[in-house]
Amino acid sequence: MRRKLIAGNWKMNMTPSQAKALIEEVKPLVAGKDNCDILFCVPFVDIFAAQEAAKGSNIKIGAENVHFAEKGAYTGEISASMLTECGVEYVIIGHSERRQYFGETDETVNLRTKAALAAGMKVILCLGEVKDQRLSGITDEVVAMQTKLDLKDVTEEQLKNVIIAYEPVWAIGTGLTATPEQADETCGVIRNTIKALYGEKAADEIIIQYGGSMNAQNAKELLAKENVDGGLIGGASLKAKDFSIIVDCAQ
Ligand code: PEP
Repeated sequence: MRRKLIAGNWKMNMTPSQAKALIEEVKPLVAGKDNCDILFCVPFVDIFAAQEAAKGSNIKIGAENVHFAEKGAYTGEISASMLTECGVEYVIIGHSERRQYFGETDETVNLRTKAALAAGMKVILCLGEVKDQRLSGITDEVVAMQTKLDLKDVTEEQLKNVIIAYEPVWAIGTGLTATPEQADETCGVIRNTIKALYGEKAADEIIIQYGGSMNAQNAKELLAKENVDGGLIGGASLKAKDFSIIVDCAQ
């Protein structure tokens, strides 16, 4: 039985004081809901405020990106050791907005993934097809290729710290959601790719989330699917009540 992970991705939203207020609002709504892991990935500057607000609760705080170098002349970047020293365990890597607006490629996603794993972090690796690829019927090939490239040279042992977020790009922030069947099928393709790369046990154990306009209305059906082990949630993670309803759907 895989444990579901409900993770919010705040993107570039929330100042530290807003972060504190939102976590404090969510805390009582998810208290005692221990049948899934609950995480907010937040802007770097919000990490301490969010951690402080989440103290003593079942809410974990993660980051939204990490650089692949240990240190050096990379102005504006944050390394894995900086995050781990701040007590951050989870990091999102390869989000489609990073790929679309900041030149992220499968190669840099792979470098970041390996750096975070080497530092002992848990990686939420995002991948998914764009609209034209879905319409052309090549979704399966695209996600299989991304899985292979993004995990190149990641060991079976390290894979235990990898969560994959299947996020069809056409569904992110658009209000369009993959049907539960589409989400299940494509998460299944990713699981089969893991099986081919790492074997059956690894495929059975890996957490594969769905992300793309998941909300309080559609979460139940999506999370009920066999291959969907949780959600990566953007917009709805900024609303305490909506996020807590999604957590309820994962119980
Ligand atoms: C995301 O940011 O990963 C995401 C899925 O966003 P949204 O839920 O807003 O589509």
